[in-house]
Amino acid sequence: MVMPIRILNGFSKSLPWPPYRRIGAVCLLAETNDGLLLVDTGLGLHDYEQPTRMMRDFMTVMRAVRDPDLALVRQIARSGRDPGTVRHIVLSHLHLDHAGGLPDFPQAQVHVARREYETLRHPRKLLEIAYNKADFAHGPRWNLHDLRGETWYGFDAVRLPGIEPQVWLVPLPGHTSGHCGVALQTETGWVFFCGDAAPVNLDFRFGPVALYRPTIGPHVPRLKAFAAAHPEVRLIAGHMFLDFFEKEGTK
Ligand SMILES: [Zn+2]
Repeated sequence: MVMPIRILNGFSKSLPWPPYRRIGAVCLLAETNDGLLLVDTGLGLHDYEQPTRMMRDFMTVMRAVRDPDLALVRQIARSGRDPGTVRHIVLSHLHLDHAGGLPDFPQAQVHVARREYETLRHPRKLLEIAYNKADFAHGPRWNLHDLRGETWYGFDAVRLPGIEPQVWLVPLPGHTSGHCGVALQTETGWVFFCGDAAPVNLDFRFGPVALYRPTIGPHVPRLKAFAAAHPEVRLIAGHMFLDFFEKEGTK
């Protein structure tokens, strides 16, 4: 079985420096042996309709597009699928622009690294304040994952049990303590979603390393070398320029 995937934009904002280039938040929608699976969720309906103070401030700073039709639950419904058939959500991390859609899919199992879940409960670093309690108030069906000695392409990783084709959580800590990449086996080969461990638009020349290392973590050299060594694996960053989504036929 191979997995057709769709790339969706879960949230549009701008880089917070001139010329304020617009970027989207990558979310992946895949069909598995056990229903639809989402990787990251962007913002949810509640973020547009009853934003918390934190979300309002975030949207202002990031010049966000405030359109509830961008919520994944609506995008999935518009594509003719029943959002209620999303059975699994895999999250790179729990930041407000990645986990915002959780309340729109209360039936789904939420797969996340145990380390990230614990970081949500006990944030320590500056970036770990960007968790929005409203994303979790409904009581997500957590499915927490620990490393068990497996590897994916040489990365320590954990395969989600029972899901075909293969989906792996690949810890890439730094942006948050429990941040992970997500690898999916698709009909066109492996996709390695690097989340916020990779620079915007997967541009490895993007700004000085000293500037982005504290925000995205230490993995850029390894990801860059991996991309060069494995052109057959498609790497995608958590935030890409809008033309990336246009090429995917999504806005
Ligand atoms: Zn983040």
